Amino acid sequence: MKNYDVLVVGAGMAGIYSVYRMKENGLAVHAIEAGGGVGGTWFWNTYPGARCDVESLDYSFSFSEELQSETRWSERFAAQPEILQYLNNVVDRFGLRENITCNARANVVRYDQSTRRWTVETDGATYSAKYLIMATGLLSVPVEPSIPGLDAFGGEIYSTGRWPASGVDLKDKRIALFGNGSSGVQVLPTVAKEAESVTLFQRTAGYAIPMRNDLMTDAEFEEAVAAYSERRKRTKESAMGTYWSAYHTSDESLFGASEEERRRVFEKFWDMGGPGFVVAFADILLDMDANKLASDFVRDKIRELVRDPETAEKLVPAADEPIGCKRLCVENGYFEAFNRPNVSVVDLRAEPIGSFGERAIHTADNSHDIDVVILATGFDAFTGSMLRMDVQGRGIALRDKWDEGPSNYLGMLMAGFPNMFTVNGPGTVAANFFLATEVQVDWIGRLIGEAEKRGASAIETDVQGEREWRELLDSVAEMVTVTNHCETWFRGTNVAGKPKVVMNYLGGLGGYSEYCDGVELEGYRHLRFQD
Ligand code: NAP
Repeated sequence: MKNYDVLVVGAGMAGIYSVYRMKENGLAVHAIEAGGGVGGTWFWNTYPGARCDVESLDYSFSFSEELQSETRWSERFAAQPEILQYLNNVVDRFGLRENITCNARANVVRYDQSTRRWTVETDGATYSAKYLIMATGLLSVPVEPSIPGLDAFGGEIYSTGRWPASGVDLKDKRIALFGNGSSGVQVLPTVAKEAESVTLFQRTAGYAIPMRNDLMTDAEFEEAVAAYSERRKRTKESAMGTYWSAYHTSDESLFGASEEERRRVFEKFWDMGGPGFVVAFADILLDMDANKLASDFVRDKIRELVRDPETAEKLVPAADEPIGCKRLCVENGYFEAFNRPNVSVVDLRAEPIGSFGERAIHTADNSHDIDVVILATGFDAFTGSMLRMDVQGRGIALRDKWDEGPSNYLGMLMAGFPNMFTVNGPGTVAANFFLATEVQVDWIGRLIGEAEKRGASAIETDVQGEREWRELLDSVAEMVTVTNHCETWFRGTNVAGKPKVVMNYLGGLGGYSEYCDGVELEGYRHLRFQD
């Protein structure tokens, strides 16, 4: 049995920062990680084209000024290898590697009421700790998609969320791609450059805004570093924790602008690139009529980008699909890729799959020769990584507690699970997860400090706290009108049998941070410190 003050499950960005913060706070901390290396999402998602669609200057830790000014990002939006290298650098720079064990998947997680400690079992070891931080990732369990007949396919099948680290040779292969969310939109134009053919089997056409990625020049980097503290301050107070959210969010109504002015603003945001398009006017996410005008603009842009009108119409989202309800994709040549002779799209709603052959997919109208199927079909988000483990709290199993959907307080604490904290789990804020991680882990660190100061054996929230938090999540989501008008992993609708609930706090990073600080300043409302 290995004993610690704090055990962290997961060594992605949240796990790494938890280890750093708890160690700095003087606690004996250790992390276990299922993967063969640290990095979480950025360890597993090595698919061609993987990169982050939040600018790297923001999508990085802010806790160390030296770290942030030394990290010379090569591009405006870093690709997966650079982000993974960054996370490894953080681990080494702050001496955290000795505190992390990889290839250690937590299977059973139990609270012992008599000792007030948590026990975590992996295949080869048992760990014990007073405090447990579950940093298991919100997008770490790929969905097994329902694609009837796929079992009959005899070629290779790869999931973007579990891409082989050694890479896959796709040169001159005939590829079927399922999924056109953020992952699929990145995969398609990248693999199209080397594959013989790429056919997207599309269920729902989606919006995507150009990324406008570029190399970062020395002058741009130096300018950004000189203004970093102000940028960090503003992004932390902003809704999404990003530059565009801090500096380009409008408080003007779209209906206050003339048609000409509206067009000018839309064009400006389109040219600027990135997901900020949805805050070009204050009401795009709040008012369905405003949203329709914004989404019509993007629909027209797709028609301009895709030369063949029949293909374009398949790729244009339906008129009643609001922009910004599903998480907005940011693309690098996705729509233009359909102008290549080797890229096509099958609209599955008009032309469903009849059957799979050994090396083919047959629809009512066509037969497609296929060597490789790529599944970019999403994740069992927020709850999947926690529920795949057997987690037993004080007389209650997590699977029973979350039977009708996840419940917790501030997205971090649960009644019946003393001294357990979740980071970037259900109920947390939807924003730049590097900064959101720091907000949560710093708060947890201060709470543990308070518990230790009081000599408490355990800290636990109450069900009233959970109810208060659920009401807040639901009422804020209700205000962000467009989020109620589509099927999205933000509400659990992408997984069969999963409870359909609002999965996180849509009130913004600044608001979330303030709320949590308020709970702390009031002496920890809804928390009980046990002797
Ligand atoms: P996703 O957004 O959930 O998209 C899944 C896609 O698979 C959708 O297009 C879905 O179609 C399709 N699909 C699911 N089952 C299918 C089936 N049986 N047949 C055909 N199509 C099917 O998943 P994701 O693209 O992996 O992205 C998930 C999240 O990860 C993103 O929203 C983002 O937060 C994060 N991510 C971020 C980046 C980044 O750049 N920062 C990159 C990749 C991922 P429907 O729309 O019809 O459901």
